[in-house]
Order: sequence, then C-alpha cells, then structure tokens
Amino acid sequence: MTRTRVSLTRPAQGVSKKIGIYGGTFDPIHYGHLRPALDAMHQLGLSQVRFVPCYQPVHRDQPSTSSALRCQMLQAAIAHQPGFELERCEIERQGPSFMVDTLRFLKTQYIGQDLVLLMGSDAFSRFLSWRDSSGILDLANLAVMHRPGESLPQQGELAQLLHQRLTTKLNQSAGQIIEVEVTQLDVSSTQIRHLVQQGVPIEFLTPRGVIETIKQNKLYI
Ligand code: ATP
Repeated sequence: MTRTRVSLTRPAQGVSKKIGIYGGTFDPIHYGHLRPALDAMHQLGLSQVRFVPCYQPVHRDQPSTSSALRCQMLQAAIAHQPGFELERCEIERQGPSFMVDTLRFLKTQYIGQDLVLLMGSDAFSRFLSWRDSSGILDLANLAVMHRPGESLPQQGELAQLLHQRLTTKLNQSAGQIIEVEVTQLDVSSTQIRHLVQQGVPIEFLTPRGVIETIKQNKLYI
C-alpha cells in the first residue's frame, strides 16, 4: 500500500503556514469541488489543499465505488493543479472516517502549520453532529464555501457558534470560521452518478481523466 507522503518540517520563511484540508466522499470528484477549492486556496493564501477521500463516511451511505477508484479519479482531477494534493490518511487508517481523528493526525505531520478545514455550506449545516466538533475547532479553522441552494443558519446553536467564531481574516491558528466567496457551480456527485446511469454525457461537469476512469471501470451504470 502506498504510504502518505508527509512533511515533518516546519514551513520555510515566507511560505504560507496555512494548509487547506478538504474532506469528502468524492464519488466522483467534480468541478463543484475543484473550482471552490481553488478559490479558497487563493483567497485564504493556503500553501496547498489536501483532498481527503473518506474511507467509511459516518454521516451518509457508504460509497458504491472503492477507495482505490475514488483516489484514482481524484488523482486524475488534480494532477495538473499545483498545490492540490491527494491525502490518503483516512483510507490508510480504515474504519469510520471521523474528521477529528484526521485533523489530529495531520497536526502531527505538519508541525507549526495551521489547518483550515474547507467545507461546503451543506456540510457546515450538519457540523454540530460531527464527532467532537469542538475538538475540531481546537485543531483547525473552518472555511465555509457557499453552495448553490444552501444558506448559512440564521438561528439555533449553529448560528450562535457562527456568531461567536465568524471572522473576515484568519489570524489565529484554530477556532475561527470564515466564509469564502466561491464560484457557484450547481454540480454534485449524485447528479453525475444519475446522469451516467441514464446515459447522459457528463462532459464539462468533471475533468476528462475522471470521465475516462468512470468509462473504463463502468462505474455508476
Ligand atoms: P453527493 O452528491 O454524493 O452527496 P457531493 O457532490 O455533495 O456528493 P461530497 O464528496 O459529499 O460531494 O462533498 C465533499 C465536500 O464538497 C462537502 O464539504 C461539500 O459541501 C462540498 N461540495 C460538494 N459539491 C459542492 C459544490 N458544488 N459547491 C461547493 N461545495 C461543494
């Protein structure tokens, strides 16, 4: 099994200390993941975005596609984008993919660097149901990317958390929440899986390498 390549060194002077961590099922990855991740990397000054495909999602159905093929599609999608990296730690760890465990692990690998957990607004709306959400905020800042059709909570416990933690500039190593203006692309993996099943082309919704992997492995039919 390929081991995750890690940096145990501190960042060089002048290099951004902030690393984006972008978890998901990525079944398959699509432009609605990729372009917002690039927007976030640029706007927040992240040195890299590490895409973390989950092994066993804990808040949704298990993916029908193997971890290996989801990684293959992800790798094909990010191959030519500097700063985008595949992070296999949840797959290597196996078992339920709790983000708090992932961040705890990554903190030991990227010493002296700040983690910024990227998530779409739909994922953020469920954030308080994640295992040890306060532990997550002790380990990382959150960057919430607006997703078409979703809005941020206006009332309740999550709105209160947002009120307490929202910032327009990340200036602490963890515990802050920032909203990132991202390109609005109404694409989802569910939509792509349905289109493939119906025999409808998925060109321009996801990169060519992803489409080739889907075709070669007869995924989603
Ligand atoms: P599915 O349709 O299978 O639920 P998905 O398209 O929502 O999948 P996931 O892999 O579940 O993709 O999502 C990973 C992360 O990407 C989540 O934080 C989610 O909010 C975010 N995300 C997915 N699609 C978009 C999009 N179009 N715009 C912004 N964020 C997105």
